[in-house]
Amino acid sequence: MLVVKKFGGTSVGNKERIINVAKRCIEDYQKGNDVVVVLSAMGKMTDELIAKAKEINPNPSRREMDMLLTTGEQTSVSLMAMAMDALGVPAVSLNAFQVAMHTTSVYSNARIKRIDTDRIFNELEQRKIVIVTGFQGVDRFDNYTTLGRGGSDTTAVALAAALHADACEIYTDVDGVYTADPRKVPMAKKLSDITYDEMLEMATLGAGVLHNRSVELAKKHGVQLVVRSSLTTEEGTVVKENVRSRGSEISGVAGDDDAARIAILGVDDIPGVAFKIFNILARKNVNVDMILQSVGQGKNKKDISFTVKEEELDIAVKALEDNLSDGSYQDINVSSKIAKVSIIGAGLRNNFGMASRMFEALYKANVNIRMISTSEIRVTVLVNREDMEKAMIAAHEAFKM
Ligand code: ADP
Ligand code: ASP
Ligand code: MG
Repeated sequence: MLVVKKFGGTSVGNKERIINVAKRCIEDYQKGNDVVVVLSAMGKMTDELIAKAKEINPNPSRREMDMLLTTGEQTSVSLMAMAMDALGVPAVSLNAFQVAMHTTSVYSNARIKRIDTDRIFNELEQRKIVIVTGFQGVDRFDNYTTLGRGGSDTTAVALAAALHADACEIYTDVDGVYTADPRKVPMAKKLSDITYDEMLEMATLGAGVLHNRSVELAKKHGVQLVVRSSLTTEEGTVVKENVRSRGSEISGVAGDDDAARIAILGVDDIPGVAFKIFNILARKNVNVDMILQSVGQGKNKKDISFTVKEEELDIAVKALEDNLSDGSYQDINVSSKIAKVSIIGAGLRNNFGMASRMFEALYKANVNIRMISTSEIRVTVLVNREDMEKAMIAAHEAFKM
């Protein structure tokens, strides 16, 4: 059996934990399995590297930032190989260049295009444990790239697909996927399983337990994921195509406090305006989320509002100011201290009453809703950031999960 095992930052945060992970992987190896391990940087190392960069240059180039961040994962994989070696098991660490993990050139948000498997299979044939850096790739000009924060999950799934692994296990600091972030909603419950579609919505809407692209890839390639704890042996959560129906219509609540809202006021109410605005943003690789178009104040005018990630706010506003001609809008209005709260579940499909139940819960908790958007299996509201946890708890309560 070929197993891909991914361990996140906390799980390899210090010497003891690295040795603990090494032992867990060796157990698998000694059963005769081929073991490929994917690691994140230790603890908060990625945050620390970002802070260090900004001390030297508040606006570092994205290429150099990725070059710097890849050292985090390189540190943990080499230490892990040393730990396994000390325990008497042959292991080899490989970075993205050595594997040949090809990505697009979008620094800090690259996508994996192709993985060469020869080197990994070669090392496995020699009965080594292969330890691969998560989160990083190489573009066609041999520059290092990174896959976006939390991207090691995506490395693990992409490897599992490329190697046709029999299992892909994501080890983290919680023992599975919960109905909400257990740090924010204390009464959250662990799910025994969840569908790809629900998990994709949860991850995209702020449930940081899995990188959303990892779920997208898992669905595309039919890779069944298990999310479980690196510290206990408890059974985790299985992420797969279909699950048995559960008691609640809702499978989870997610919160995302990394949101900012841009409102472009008083644009002309004529064809092509939305295209122009969103094309400017697309050219800058700004990801736009919830979009709302409303009737404006003036005659034949409208307002267009949308959300972006907080870190992309400045780039987005500058791109709009530079590229929209002066008379084509009245004002650009920005709110940064906001958050998104969502309920997610396949049970929402045929049941609009669910949305109103959520709105009632927020009303009773005295949370003001600033924007609403829905899809087939979710309802998302925009709220003030200070209300996020209160709103998550209220929504969670309302659906008795
Ligand atoms: P790792 O470093 O292992 O990748 P992360 O910090 O990225 O770990 O993800 C694990 C964290 O995700 C948990 O500590 C938890 O606070 C958070 N989280 C958010 N939403 C959920 C959820 N629905 N279920 C479980 N954990 C969640
Ligand atoms: N080390 C990277 C981060 O902190 C990638 C990851 O943890 O998955 O975002
Ligand atoms: Mg993570």
